[in-house]
Amino acid sequence: MISATWTSRPRASTATSPATTSRSPADTPAWSSTSSPRSPPGTVRLGLGPRRLEWGETPVRLHFGDEATTTLTADHVILTVSLGVLKASIDEDVSATGAIAFDPPLPEFKREAVARLGFGVVDKLFVEVEAVETPELDGGDEQLASAAPPAFPFLHMAFLGDAAKIPWWMRGTESVCPVHAGSTVALAWFAGREATHLESLPDDEVIRALHSTLESFLPAPPRRCSGAAAGATPRWRVKRIKRSGWATDPLFLGSYSYVAVGSSGEDLDRMAEPLPSGPEAGGTPLSVLFAGGTPLSVLFAGEATHRTHYSTTHAAYLSGVREADRLLHHYR
Ligand SMILES: Cc1cc2nc3c(=O)[nH]c(=O)nc-3n(C[C@H](O)[C@H](O)[C@H](O)COP(=O)(O)OP(=O)(O)OC[C@H]3O[C@@H](n4cnc5c(N)ncnc54)[C@H](O)[C@@H]3O)c2cc1C
Repeated sequence: MISATWTSRPRASTATSPATTSRSPADTPAWSSTSSPRSPPGTVRLGLGPRRLEWGETPVRLHFGDEATTTLTADHVILTVSLGVLKASIDEDVSATGAIAFDPPLPEFKREAVARLGFGVVDKLFVEVEAVETPELDGGDEQLASAAPPAFPFLHMAFLGDAAKIPWWMRGTESVCPVHAGSTVALAWFAGREATHLESLPDDEVIRALHSTLESFLPAPPRRCSGAAAGATPRWRVKRIKRSGWATDPLFLGSYSYVAVGSSGEDLDRMAEPLPSGPEAGGTPLSVLFAGGTPLSVLFAGEATHRTHYSTTHAAYLSGVREADRLLHHYR
């Protein structure tokens, strides 16, 4: 989540402006940590999640876990956590899993943008299937009976009328399709409340719902007994499933952002605003920020900070480049 920080060496104890200390990115970067004060240049630390971020003074202080564990200081923090994590962080109860306690709290313009923008849920359900043995057929159909089972089809579904056997959340998906032609692994997409509900279910309940769906849409050819059809039997059995859990994963708390009713592109711009903000909160011209008008203590990147490409991977990438550029201009 923290894409770039560096702490100057040597650090003046009270002043950190470019005029009083050497703070060029060309300086040897160094993490400052109570547990490891001189990490080698270029150190990347994985598996650390800040619980508290103090940004009222420079340097910024990041606290990981309880107070007794690691604390890092940095001149600049680029925060790239998801909008879901930021939403949890503006809740009154910031002890929620995944939340970061900001001290001081995020300013109002930022909190409002975080609250107004939408953060949706999209999940994938992978299903490994196997063909159930072809039912025995009477008479001269031995050739058909011994034929190789057909490939799992690209199944597109419309639920009309009485589909009570198939649970409501399963009816929220439109297709169960092999990941490539001939594959025995199929994929179904879920969104919104159906996705969130899917995340909460035990595997056996999901498998039962899949069996009901496959029995309804893909029954085996009817078995013939004395010339009469004896009803449909299932053709496919679900061996196992694997699914994403973006809504419940405390590092994401959702999938990606959208402009909810009542929010706008302005909110996405506010998401990108560094802290502390300039005199006109929510609209500080970049030229002012680039001129070094603020210390740029906390910068924000990630898909939900990009006004035009929000919700995409390229928005996340472009926003990272934008914030790196912002810092480079700051030091020019
Ligand atoms: C099912 C699905 C399909 C998608 N398909 C596409 C697609 O086809 N094309 C496309 O462009 N986009 C797609 N997206 C969207 C795309 O994945 C996201 O927009 C993109 O990943 C957002 O990147 P990000 O860096 O902003 O946020 P994230 O990917 O959410 O990264 C945030 C990071 O912050 C970390 N983090 C969170 N909290 C903390 C903490 N307290 N401490 C430390 N680290 C923390 C997380 O571990 C994570 O690594 C899809 C998303 C989903 C869910």
